[in-house]
Amino acid sequence: MDLTTLAHTELSTRLAVLHDEHGRLKDRGLSLNLTRGKPAAEQLELSRPLLSLPGPDGHTAQDGTDGRNYGGLQGLPELRAAFSGPLQVPVDQLVAFGNSSLELMYECVVDAVLFGLPGAPAPWPREGRTAMLCPVPGYDRHFALCEKLGIDMIPVPMTADGPDMDEVERLVAEERVKGIWCVPKYSNPTGVCYAPETVRRLAAMETAAPDFRVFWDNAYAVHHVGEGAPLADVLSLSAEHGHPDRVFVFGSTSKITMAGSGVAFFGSSPANVSWLLGHFSKRTIGPDKINQLRHARFLPDAAAVRAHMERHAELLRPKFELIDAVLEKRLGDAGVASWTRPQGGYFVSLDVLDGCAARVVELAGDAGIALTPAGATFPHGKDPRDRNIRLAPSYPGLAEVGDAVEGLALCVELAAVERLLE
Ligand code: PLP
Repeated sequence: MDLTTLAHTELSTRLAVLHDEHGRLKDRGLSLNLTRGKPAAEQLELSRPLLSLPGPDGHTAQDGTDGRNYGGLQGLPELRAAFSGPLQVPVDQLVAFGNSSLELMYECVVDAVLFGLPGAPAPWPREGRTAMLCPVPGYDRHFALCEKLGIDMIPVPMTADGPDMDEVERLVAEERVKGIWCVPKYSNPTGVCYAPETVRRLAAMETAAPDFRVFWDNAYAVHHVGEGAPLADVLSLSAEHGHPDRVFVFGSTSKITMAGSGVAFFGSSPANVSWLLGHFSKRTIGPDKINQLRHARFLPDAAAVRAHMERHAELLRPKFELIDAVLEKRLGDAGVASWTRPQGGYFVSLDVLDGCAARVVELAGDAGIALTPAGATFPHGKDPRDRNIRLAPSYPGLAEVGDAVEGLALCVELAAVERLLE
């Protein structure tokens, strides 16, 4: 039933029915949670062998390096070789460092602000206010990072092919625009995979800032749940178009092995890699090579990574399918919601009627269903249309996902009817 075509009296009748249903939902005393974009315990179990690696005698790397000692700032070559293909970065231009790619992004922005980037006339703030382009809806922690470091954020709408490139090309003509956040594969939260033409335009476009950077956060490079989607090689394309230093590639094993104990990666041009390692060298004598060794033994090559990710996909796929089935059943022809059917990544992006997202989150919260706050997917937490909600189905069990989305769908309908009656 398309709610948007109902007459006022029909809507009022429907509202009473939905209120009753919501009351019964509240009475169930549920405690469900769709906010946590992290692996479930069964996914962590897939990497249990890591806990006994590299073993008491396994501390020597292929090149003879003793993993127990200092040094090796760029990270173990064998681990970099295993992730070179998945991240589309040549081994000698890939750095394996720390356990969090977000930390590497933060480091890059801090170093750009404090010291300036290769090819830069000065550190970022000395030239006045700086800004980054933020495709929306997007990843809240990218936005929090900018907010913390005083970098203005300019929202750019996402399309089915990635950020609206006409808008991006228009905005990079401003010199204060220094970068763009991109989650190019199974984007957070839309699940969008950037089309080849989008990647080409990002690589080829002329920017007013000589030190413009594409922050290529390829967090879900190998995290398919359906057919794996190909992604154009942005690093090579940028070099081909005369902008070899344009791209910072980030990735990690957080959602491949153990989210708190993985390995993070940075890939870029030789000049950018030397720049970052130069800064690292002042704050550490080397990364945790024992953790890198255990990862290299567990995932020795790209084929091993692929096989391992297939096992993750088997656990995640039913949850994505269930969300779609439940939403489709209740809201498929209601005319008040649309949602993504991602082929990978960790999220479903739900758009409700304009002006209703915060109300949906409130109604769900009243019924014991925790949802990511409305607006979280926009800079400063402000969704100008108040319509986007990010759903994270990985962590709860299948039954909990089903119950939570059933309740959510009711709340979407209830908020919509309230709105249509205004
Ligand atoms: N980038 C994106 C797009 C994410 O969704 C996440 C986690 O949800 C991260 C980065 C965090 O990655 P890491 O654990 O490597 O810091």
